[in-house]
Amino acid sequence: MNKVENNIIFETPHQQNIEGIFIQLKENTQKMKNTNAKQRIQKLKKIEEYILQNREEIQKAVYADFKKNPTEADTTEIISTLGLLRHAKRNLKQWMKPRRVGTPLNMFGSSSQILPEPKGVCLIIAPWNYPFYLAIAPLIYAIAAGNTVMIKPSEISHNTSAYIQKMMDELFPANEVKVVQGGVDVSTTLLKLKFNHIFFTGSPQVGKIVMRAAVDNLTSVTLELGGKSPAVICEDADLKDATDKLTWGKFINAGQTCIAPDYALVPKSRKDEFVEQMSNTINEFYSPNGEVVSVSEDFCRIINHSHYHRLKSIIDDAAEKGATVIMNGEMDESTKFIPPTIVTNVTNDMRIMQEEIFGPILAVMDYEEINQALEVIEEKEKPLALYVFGKKKKYIKNVIHNTTAGGTCINDTILHINNPELPFGGVNNSGIGKSHGKFGFDGFSNQRAVLKNRIGMTVVKTIYPPYGNLSKKL
Ligand code: NAD
Repeated sequence: MNKVENNIIFETPHQQNIEGIFIQLKENTQKMKNTNAKQRIQKLKKIEEYILQNREEIQKAVYADFKKNPTEADTTEIISTLGLLRHAKRNLKQWMKPRRVGTPLNMFGSSSQILPEPKGVCLIIAPWNYPFYLAIAPLIYAIAAGNTVMIKPSEISHNTSAYIQKMMDELFPANEVKVVQGGVDVSTTLLKLKFNHIFFTGSPQVGKIVMRAAVDNLTSVTLELGGKSPAVICEDADLKDATDKLTWGKFINAGQTCIAPDYALVPKSRKDEFVEQMSNTINEFYSPNGEVVSVSEDFCRIINHSHYHRLKSIIDDAAEKGATVIMNGEMDESTKFIPPTIVTNVTNDMRIMQEEIFGPILAVMDYEEINQALEVIEEKEKPLALYVFGKKKKYIKNVIHNTTAGGTCINDTILHINNPELPFGGVNNSGIGKSHGKFGFDGFSNQRAVLKNRIGMTVVKTIYPPYGNLSKKL
């Protein structure tokens, strides 16, 4: 037995018979490949019905992990998953269709098409921060594309992970979808197996481990990673609107969101107004009657003590180096509570501007000229998300044209993840490959190129050997 944080005991890879599970999944790939759209939609329907019937159970599991309010569990774990499921059900037939493409004239007589086919046996490794959504969303596309799937949810959000295991055991035979549980030792064992595709969601550091392991088997990967996502406040931004949207995007899930605005770049002349407005909005959201945020049922806890201490040390480091910390309440180690916090006067030598924060702390850096703000972004890794707030098109365009990001909201935060017509994913350090909608389906599919010719007919005959003086005619 293996112990991980919180003293949760998981079975070892050997006890879970990981290799045996893999073989079963592998042996079933051909059968799954031959399933049609109707059969795959049926599988998606089963997941949908299960979620609808067990909504409260899912809310409870997520609440047990980090006290997430059931309404927030609804919006960020359940309804978001159902949205992707329903979109996939509606569009799957179309996605699966072979796509005819043109054929050059010098190949006259032949025709060409692109045939999406499943990759085979796929591995999904999920993180803890949206433990249900981030395990089930990739599963939707893996199933839609006709694969068999092994899921390794996070050992940290162990209540939700146990729920996902029960759910999959009830929904699918072991040779279609199977959950294995555990931490690094289980992941390491999994990464040695010859999966046909790995869909990993987590930190860039572990993303590199996954990619290195994939090299040995030449397994394709989708890496959904993280990083520092900036919010740029242009000089003409509507601050009430911007701070409402930033407060929501930053403090939902207590900031433990991969696309949460990590730091805000604010014009120096508007910084005080911005901070005041942001503090007001925090009060409106989490202390509507003047109560302390720690009693609010709407504000999550930090997932574990190790992350609590990491966040505390980020704040301490900034304070020691001269930043101003505005904390809406008091931290409490015993309940892993960190109140909504704004840290101003930050500089690039502080950890708060170097590491992904991933907690309820917004760093605020001010700028005199927009180019200074753009330079701050440029010097860092390419972000998973970038948010820009402003009125004039030319200001918005300037920010977008001079930066890059996996996704962007103009005058909002987070919401781009909710449109399955948009690809979701990062760039380089924030991710490789895209998910959601057709992009998700394609990620789990091999785009097979098929050229068909007629028997007895090939223009290529003219270039068969013996060549003689053929090159003079070409
Ligand atoms: P993590 O990288 O620590 O863990 C993710 C998964 O990898 C877990 O299942 C874990 O068991 C496994 N893992 C951990 N160490 C491993 C190792 N050495 N070898 C193999 N597997 C290992 O990430 P996390 O703390 O669970 O999640 C937070 C990170 O995930 C943040 O960086 C966040 O931005 C990112 N994230 C990204 C997205 C996205 O969609 N792009 C979504 C959520 C979270």
